[in-house]
This record gives sequence, structure tokens and C-alpha cells, in this order.
Amino acid sequence: MESYKRLLLNNLAWVQDKLTLRPDFFSRHSEVQKPEFLWIGCSDSRVPAEEVTGVEPGELFVHRNVANLVVHTDFNMLSVVQYAVEVLKVKHIIVCGHYGCGGVRAAMSRSHLGLINKWLRHMKDVYRLHSVELDAIHDQERRYERLIELNVFEQVNHLAELSFVQRRALHGWIYDIHTGHLKQIAKLDPGQLPHEIFVYEFPDEPG
Ligand SMILES: [Zn+2]
Repeated sequence: MESYKRLLLNNLAWVQDKLTLRPDFFSRHSEVQKPEFLWIGCSDSRVPAEEVTGVEPGELFVHRNVANLVVHTDFNMLSVVQYAVEVLKVKHIIVCGHYGCGGVRAAMSRSHLGLINKWLRHMKDVYRLHSVELDAIHDQERRYERLIELNVFEQVNHLAELSFVQRRALHGWIYDIHTGHLKQIAKLDPGQLPHEIFVYEFPDEPG
């Protein structure tokens, strides 16, 4: 059997399992979605957002890209965030990185990987911003893990800088692929910004 057919067969079994547990499993969500959370994670196949957080369809709005970056000129990511905040009214936005991230490792190297180098250059900027701390870590693996953590921290800051996000709680998490645990490493309350230069005034809105 060709490998992809296994996925289609799995789907049939999955549908049957869900309907056995709850006959309205699919019909209850078919009209609208009201997720409370937006997840911005890495494309890595080992970090399935819904599975590691134990949520069901309808609970998580998801955007994934290589190395979970929040780039202010990425209209794909910006559209997802704006829609999630202003239309779906999500309350929390989570940026989740992960140990073992190939994107971060590539960004730390001098490998020329083609087009993706342009994307990973944003990660090299994170390194440059924290180069004093990172260069002082002599253990290469620990330095790599620290960059993964600092990257999440910086991407949460990038989110906070967006005007339409400034009334939402922002979270930075790391998924440990070795243990399966999620670790919280950053949290910004609504309106909490990395610097006052990013504050916007909304004259037409209360508060
Ligand atoms: Zn990754």
C-alpha cells in the first residue's frame, strides 16, 4: 500500500471512533468556530498543536511556520492574527517554540539552504540582539537551546507591537520534544509592551 493511503484509512477509523464516543462530534462545530486561543507554532511534524495541548477541533486557531516567527511583513501571519483577534475574538495568543528546532539550528549555522535563508535571517537577527548572552555560553547545545527560548521571547514581543493585538494576553511557551512537556517562558498581559514607542491610542474605542 502506498504510504499516503494509510492516512485516508486512518481518517475513516478516526471518524468512526469520534462518532462512537459522541454522535454530534462533527455536527456541533459545522456552523461556527469560537476558539479561545490562537497558536503560532513551528511547522515541525513533532509538535502537533492540538495533540500536545489536549484540545478538540474548534478550540485552537492555528498558524505554523518554520521556527514560529512573527515577521511584521508576513501577510499570511498578520491576516491570521488580525482575523483571530478582531473576528474570532480569541483571548490568548500563544507562540510555541520547541527544543530540537531544525530552523533554529540552521540559523545558527553557515549552511546555505537556498530561499529559506531569507526566512531564517530573522532568527539570525534574534541571535545578534542577544549575542552577548549567547556568545558567553560555551556549551553549543545549551547555546542552541537558549536561542530557541530567546526566539520565543522575541516573537512574543513582535506580537505585542501589533496595534490590533494590544488587548490580548500573550504567552511564550517551549515544547520539549524529549519529554512532551510544555514550559512557559514569557507572558505579557493585555497592554503590556516591550517599549512605550509601540503604544497606539485608539480614540474611537473605550478603554
Ligand atoms: Zn522547529
